[in-house]
Amino acid sequence: MKQSQKGLVFEEATIFGRGSAGRVGVDIQMDGLPELDLAETFGIDALRSPIAGFPELSEPEVIRHYTRLSQWNYGVDSNLYPLGSCTMKHNPRVNEAVARMAGFTRLHPMQPDTAAQGTLRMMHDLALWLSELTGLPGCTLQPAAGAHGEFTGLLMIRAALTKRGDARKKILLPDSAHGTNPASAVYCGYEAVTIKSNAAGKIDLVELAEKMDDTVAALMVTNPNTLGVFESDIAEAARIVHDRGGFVYCDGANMNAVMGKARFGDMGIDVCHLNLHKSFSTPHGGGGPGAGPVCVGKELIPFLPTPVVVKTEDGYTLATDRPDSVGRVHAHFGNVGILLRAAAYLLTMGPDGIREAAEAAVINANYIKARLKGHYHVPIEGHCLHECVLNDQIQQEHHVSTLDIAKGLIDRGFHPPTIYFPLIVKGAMMIEPTETESKETLDAFIEAMIAIAEQAKSDPDSLHAAPTMAVRRRLDEATAARNPELTCGLCR
Ligand SMILES: *Cc1c(COP(=O)(O)O)cnc(C)c1O
Repeated sequence: MKQSQKGLVFEEATIFGRGSAGRVGVDIQMDGLPELDLAETFGIDALRSPIAGFPELSEPEVIRHYTRLSQWNYGVDSNLYPLGSCTMKHNPRVNEAVARMAGFTRLHPMQPDTAAQGTLRMMHDLALWLSELTGLPGCTLQPAAGAHGEFTGLLMIRAALTKRGDARKKILLPDSAHGTNPASAVYCGYEAVTIKSNAAGKIDLVELAEKMDDTVAALMVTNPNTLGVFESDIAEAARIVHDRGGFVYCDGANMNAVMGKARFGDMGIDVCHLNLHKSFSTPHGGGGPGAGPVCVGKELIPFLPTPVVVKTEDGYTLATDRPDSVGRVHAHFGNVGILLRAAAYLLTMGPDGIREAAEAAVINANYIKARLKGHYHVPIEGHCLHECVLNDQIQQEHHVSTLDIAKGLIDRGFHPPTIYFPLIVKGAMMIEPTETESKETLDAFIEAMIAIAEQAKSDPDSLHAAPTMAVRRRLDEATAARNPELTCGLCR
């Protein structure tokens, strides 16, 4: 077996470079069992032809391989994961215990409503709580992600406008929008039109008023936006859009900053999505299951996807008789396991806990911003909400860039923040600590960032070479993305 090891850090080939022909994971005693003709028993169509190069390994080899991979992976269970806009916060393990309760996991999605009352009640109540938090009375739990929620929300806007006989053509988006927003608009058949942000990092109302006309279906804003700034003129922006017959969509993926403190419905917003896998503390990342419920105001309720969970005198039931519905956007009921975790989170936190979480998220981001100011350039002055944006303007004097700083953080044991986003800040570093980090962890991160700022002055070349402590040195990012080399040096 090819393997190299030093300092208890193991380097090994991918699973395809390991094992040997005929090696198996489990030995089953076949003596005395009748021979089975698989083609005859299951039908020839059910048989798979052999896969060339399929790895053949023993059980301990497989276990060690995957355990090693899990150790190479940096996750929120390892240390601070300050990716801005991603809300990488701790997922309380009680949520996991709830999601694993047999009454939920053993339920089949085709079971009749009468045999699924517990799950239906959970979904009904979760929708109600999310409506309460957003101030928007309608809710669908079906969408599987934030971007899927955006698509669903825009479909509803489109259906409502079409019903008025006025489908419209454009969606207005501030230049601070998350990348999924214009993508969803285009995916839904709209033209995406950009509105510039002003010096305070907020929507420019003058430009909004100029561009808002009766060809615009909706304004799509993220609040708080990707600069970590609360769009305090949102009510006025909504009035401008409503006066011209448009809708206001709010990307609520950053709800972590405002949950329990402010409600989108009260700000004049008509529809928003929430990322349960961010603000509501369910696991996320790696493209795993998520949930992006959508909450809507009264006017859009008839267009919600079906089925909708309704409470009747006889219990909970799934209603499909909605003639104006946009239809189904997910098989069965969405990612119910994620919904369960979010419901457990809300129940364990309660209204006060949710509010405190938002407050702590905001204080933590402002603490980082205040302590790093001077060491790093702060493009948007004033308090931020749940995340702060810095850039490399000071370090550029020493030819050190945001990328070098990010790689330097790896050498100091931290996952880098989101970099070069939002696009409107040159060399942006977008830092979101979340509320679940202790002051000690925040201080350790801040000290690493300050040490890197010093290193940029005293020894910039060492940062160009970073990371030097990781299993891998700096990759050529373009080649790594376009032409990935998926085997390691040991396999070649
Ligand atoms: C994460 C995020 C999204 C997209 O959510 P997905 O679940 O990844 O599709 C959209 N908008 C904002 C502001 C986000 O932070």
